[in-house]
Amino acid sequence: MHEEIENGRTPPKKPFIFYAIVAMIVIMLLNALLFPSMMERSVVEVGYDQFLEMIDNDEVKEVSYDEYSGEYVFIAENENGAGIYKTGIWPEDGERLLQQLLEHSDVKFSATIPTQTNPLLSFVLTWILPMLFFFLIGEIFYRWMRKRMNSQMPGGMGNAMSFGKSGAKIYVADAKTGVRFEDVAGQEEAKDALKEVVDFLHQPKKYAAIGAKLPKGVLLVGPPGTGKTLLAKAVAGEAGVPFFSISGSEFVEMFVGMGAAKVRDLFKQANEKAPCIVFIDEIDAIGQKRNTGGGLGGNDEREQTLNQLLAEMDGFDGQKGVVMLAATNRPESLDPALLRPGRFDRRVPVELPDLQGREAILKVHAREVKTEADIDWNAIARATAGASGAELANMVNEAALRAVRMGRSAISQEDLEESVETVIAGAQRKNAVVSDREKKIVAYHEIGHALVAAKQSHSAPVTKITIVPRTSGALGYTMQVDEGERMLMSRTEILNKIATLTGGRSAEELIFGKDNMTTGASNDIEQATKLARAMITRYGMTDEFDMVALETVQNQYLGGDASLACAAETASRIDGQVVETVKEAHEKARRILEENESALHRLADYLLEKETITGEEFMNLLEAVPAGGR
Ligand code: ADP
Ligand code: MG
Ligand code: ZN
Repeated sequence: MHEEIENGRTPPKKPFIFYAIVAMIVIMLLNALLFPSMMERSVVEVGYDQFLEMIDNDEVKEVSYDEYSGEYVFIAENENGAGIYKTGIWPEDGERLLQQLLEHSDVKFSATIPTQTNPLLSFVLTWILPMLFFFLIGEIFYRWMRKRMNSQMPGGMGNAMSFGKSGAKIYVADAKTGVRFEDVAGQEEAKDALKEVVDFLHQPKKYAAIGAKLPKGVLLVGPPGTGKTLLAKAVAGEAGVPFFSISGSEFVEMFVGMGAAKVRDLFKQANEKAPCIVFIDEIDAIGQKRNTGGGLGGNDEREQTLNQLLAEMDGFDGQKGVVMLAATNRPESLDPALLRPGRFDRRVPVELPDLQGREAILKVHAREVKTEADIDWNAIARATAGASGAELANMVNEAALRAVRMGRSAISQEDLEESVETVIAGAQRKNAVVSDREKKIVAYHEIGHALVAAKQSHSAPVTKITIVPRTSGALGYTMQVDEGERMLMSRTEILNKIATLTGGRSAEELIFGKDNMTTGASNDIEQATKLARAMITRYGMTDEFDMVALETVQNQYLGGDASLACAAETASRIDGQVVETVKEAHEKARRILEENESALHRLADYLLEKETITGEEFMNLLEAVPAGGR
């Protein structure tokens, strides 16, 4: 865990409470000093006759009458000094008393004679002291709250409540328990890039000797769940310098104008603490492109914050050792000004893990759980192509949960296989009711996919086919695993894949007739169409359009929404070509199935009986059946 220091308040600046206590002591002393004189001035009660006598002796100097209590308060002076006295009234005697007082012309008539205390002291007692008291209570409560919150949410980055001005938290690396680079698996290139930054902060002289400048800003870019935040935490764990962490959304959440102030404050602190690292997670929350079109709907608050950030980044001096880190999964939405040299000029891609990476990530998370000795991690990694680090972490946890449910004390291979499907395709719905006829249709549909895939040499072999429904809604599921990772797909491979996708529906048509086709192919249709379209508009694989980009990808990490960038007339020609491509693939799939109809029946029967079959079983059966119709 990192030791967390609330910015601004600590380290040992004298806290407010210190001043409060000093003030209290001063007031007490004052009080003690003033009280004796008050005692002297305190009121002596005398009889009415004595009052009259004192008037006669010319001792009374000043008199006042209090209507409410019906008392005379007076100041008298004799050889022993002055004093305040009071006496009860003698009602019928008013006239005569007045007469007597008037005879002694030096007696003053006052409205009131202060008997209690001097005004300053009473002001202090009635106003200042209670206020201080409330302040004190408030301060104590506030401290207590903060302590509680910190202890409730220990350590985790970005979740400790922060009352500071900038809201950023400082993590001072604790060599023993923080996240380290070794906890981040399969992101070797990203780690290398960040190691350099850490190294620079450790020994800046080495770099200065050559004249190399520290990169000012490093932007971690990649799809969600690939470990960007984790990498930043690891940098904090390794760096050994103060590490300020703040999420982009925290800049814009509160009041208008706060965002820019927060940025200013953050950089002020960073400059004081240099060398240090400032990490802004999810920077797209503030770093989006500023409105160029003018007009309504702009976000002034966000733009102000962004402008402030840009100004601050220009302002600080790279030599001082403030390194900016930021993470985003929407790099194309960032304002170009942020990516300019001198700002976030270094981009570190954090991509989805490859086969090796997935295996490494699984093993990292397996350290935290008990597993049986003979787990084949490679097999699990192969079955999880396209999964992110976060999903893989989730799979290991799901497997652990399943092992507990099954009453075992360690995770088995089966648990892992099951959890892969839980995470990828939704949990199994064991008791969902599927009619026999539906089941039969699903079996033929799934075998249709698998058969078309297997008969096209370039398609990946099938590893598992099931007709056990998933909670995701899919009634069946054919898992295809690529042998190794393939970064490039050829035109033939794409066409084969489209054919495979149409294989499900083709089998339904062949066996049950065109009129009985079902809605089960909707997902296949969507995928096939996407692929066919991409072939034309993005991969330049057709003669008609050649290598012309007809679509621009909006966001390659979040699903890859593409928007057409061509004339309407071209768009309709593209649509025509898409239909053509899918149609051809569909024809091909149907041909393959017709040629292998007997295998289709055998395999579908077998699947119906077993519900789930492995790729091996499938291939064995397929080879046992001679090609040709039945
Ligand atoms: P991102 O910030 O990129 O969206 P996170 O860093 O928050 O993703 O990752 C979420 C969780 O997924 C991490 O806490 C970790 O448990 C797991 N994870 C992701 N990538 C990796 C990785 N490369 N190695 C180990 N664990 C990972
Ligand atoms: Mg994150
Ligand atoms: Zn299908």
